[in-house]
Amino acid sequence: MNSQPDRTTDSTHRSLLSQLRTRISGELIDRSDPRYDDARRVWNGMIDRRPIAVVRAGSAADIAPTLALAATQGLPIAVRGGGHNVAGNGTVDDGIVLDLSGLHDVQVDPARRTVQVQAGATLAHLDAATAPYNLAVPVGVVSGTGIAGLTLGGGVGWLTRAHGLTVDNLIAAEVVTVAGDTVQASETENPELFWGLRGGGGNFGVVTSFTFRAHPLPERPFTGNFLYARDRWAQALASYEAWSRDVPDELTSILTILVPPAGMQLGTDPLLMLGFAWAATDTARAEELVDRMRRAAPPTIEAVEPVSWSAWQSSVDAFFPKGSRGYWKNTSFDRLDDEVRAVLARRGAEQSWVGTGFDIHHLGGAYARVAEDATPFPSRAARFWLNIYGFWADPAEDAARMAFIRAFGAEMEPLGTGGTYLNFLGEERDADAAAPVRPVYSEAKLHRLATLKRAYDPQNILRRNHNVLPAAASDDTE
Ligand code: FAD
Repeated sequence: MNSQPDRTTDSTHRSLLSQLRTRISGELIDRSDPRYDDARRVWNGMIDRRPIAVVRAGSAADIAPTLALAATQGLPIAVRGGGHNVAGNGTVDDGIVLDLSGLHDVQVDPARRTVQVQAGATLAHLDAATAPYNLAVPVGVVSGTGIAGLTLGGGVGWLTRAHGLTVDNLIAAEVVTVAGDTVQASETENPELFWGLRGGGGNFGVVTSFTFRAHPLPERPFTGNFLYARDRWAQALASYEAWSRDVPDELTSILTILVPPAGMQLGTDPLLMLGFAWAATDTARAEELVDRMRRAAPPTIEAVEPVSWSAWQSSVDAFFPKGSRGYWKNTSFDRLDDEVRAVLARRGAEQSWVGTGFDIHHLGGAYARVAEDATPFPSRAARFWLNIYGFWADPAEDAARMAFIRAFGAEMEPLGTGGTYLNFLGEERDADAAAPVRPVYSEAKLHRLATLKRAYDPQNILRRNHNVLPAAASDDTE
């Protein structure tokens, strides 16, 4: 990052920004502000963009004037929730960042088991608010992630098999459109917009709040990790193939291979970690299920002790420090046969850097019971999702780390089922505007999303995202 603020905001922009400043209750941080460098940063330290200004919204009323300024001046605008987007879509060069992170109120209705969440909330805000009621909304596994970006892409985590993706638990959203209107989206109000919000990314407007269905969860649900040193990987992977075929929906597991961070004092070799979470009260049943895996493949170390849901939800935060340089690739897949296991074990052993690793999310259950066309999110039939990631600190390592992840991704591609998850996409610098979303959606879904985009954002004002281009009128089908 360049620590010297760029003071070259031209006079036209200066006067427009001054006008905007008078119309909002939040803060406007321009290039001359000493807070500018901090304000422009996102989670991925490799993303080094210099917006004209960062608008830290003080209320939802700040959204429409900020969108209007961007639209009338043709300035690119980036909408930011938690800033965790790996591709860096929460910031932009020479445009406006609309930062909603100050709006993070969470209202729980325990009687209805619903939760209303403002768009700047993180998973930590949400989990802290639902925990006192022994309720949880299915979200991701790192607590600093923003609810907004996570939800708009899908939301995979420890409750996926029990209760589905985050989007499968979305009941309603409030959206400010690029025209400045506030609209509601649900199954009964603007249902097509509601469909698009459940996996179509931030293309259709700025969401101000999400309403989710929450689920009962014991205060200390049964969770834990089995850790396997390299000499046990073959047995662990083969046993996981069989074990994961035969567990109930309440049990979600994630199999990871990575070099643990130094602070964990687990050595410097890559480790296989099998994490599991049981979303029910019958702990004896869960113990019996994980014991089956334990007997089939005895772990080198195990860490199975009761912790609160919030503690579990932040238990791997230290693996992913803010400011890391990051690049990811992903694919859905069904086979965990000898051929695939050999690739995973070899690639797992090759990754000798702290921070490079991969997760295999076990799918099925509630995830698979949602019809493929019910949401834009792809690959409901897939058995697993593979997310290959790299986090590092030194720019000199960029080329080697990205090359490893790309090569691993390319090797898995023909073995996968072709699914790509929007939220696990890294930045593809050489891609054309529409390329990143092409592998994500079927042709029919992309057409439906493009038609929705034309209805809500025909000028593609919201394009600093995994962008869906507005359909041309000539694309209409009879
Ligand atoms: P931001 O960068 O703030 O926003 C991302 C994009 O979302 C924006 O560019 C914009 O297009 C859109 N957006 C944000 N807010 C709004 C809004 N209010 N209205 C309209 N559009 C908006 N994903 C999972 O599914 N499961 C995981 O377990 C998981 N773990 C992760 C762990 C780490 C360390 C990281 C870096 C990412 C993880 N992700 C996970 C991926 C994550 O879901 C995406 O990176 C997501 O985009 C982050 O959302 P955000 O709000 O933090 O991001």
